[in-house]
Amino acid sequence: MRGWLILREYPRTIKFAGNFPLFPASHWTCQPGTLTLHAGEVAEGEAMTEAEWLACDDPAPMLEDLQSRVSRRRLRLFACACCRRIWHLLEDEGSWKAVEVAEQYADRLVSNKERAAAVALAGTLPAMLAAGPTIKLVFGDALECSQHAASEVASAAARNPEVPDTCRENAYEVEMRMQCRLFRCIFGNPFRPVSLDPTWRTPTVTALATAAYEERILPTGILEADRIAVLADALEDVGCDNAYILSHLRGPGPHVRGCWAIDLLLKKE
Ligand SMILES: [Zn+2]
Repeated sequence: MRGWLILREYPRTIKFAGNFPLFPASHWTCQPGTLTLHAGEVAEGEAMTEAEWLACDDPAPMLEDLQSRVSRRRLRLFACACCRRIWHLLEDEGSWKAVEVAEQYADRLVSNKERAAAVALAGTLPAMLAAGPTIKLVFGDALECSQHAASEVASAAARNPEVPDTCRENAYEVEMRMQCRLFRCIFGNPFRPVSLDPTWRTPTVTALATAAYEERILPTGILEADRIAVLADALEDVGCDNAYILSHLRGPGPHVRGCWAIDLLLKKE
């Protein structure tokens, strides 16, 4: 099985040929000596097909599949987008500041000194005992932090004291599915590479794209749907006929900083 299987953390531990902390039981058929993959999951050594990619409801195998083909910037922004999903559980200014600085770091907008100060602040507050490791990860290796942030955030969502015990497994799975939506916003569909006609990058289009990033909804980091809709209309007005770009911008989202379509307009990778 893929390595990511045993990296998962979840409040429940399923005993299977040892004491592995595994996925919710609903993910697996457990029999002595075997683990059976369910729909949407991929066996070790096999590249994902487009159908598997589109059906996948766990960011871990998609990250593994893409890891060497995507930018460090987008991996880190994905980690930050995951962390913003549990903003209300972080509960202290140091944690929030850490996520904000990590986003700026992804775009090379902070110095190493500012980054180190944010790491120190996030790591010293007592309230960070539960969420601290997640925050520290946003400053580590980009691939590692995206893998671990996704996993830890899903676990934190499941451990949320406001979630009844009977709903924790569902909360974990809901969080992973939400992460997959963020993932597809940021990384798109690797089976459908898109090229942009540079004439579509008019001053109006790039100004709208820039504003969508700068005027996002905080603390969630979600881009305003109205701004994205106006951007899609503006793109169409300048002759954009790429259905994939337009349908992504007009789709249900949510969109976050690092969105592949907006990055394409702003020449970001
Ligand atoms: Zn998007």
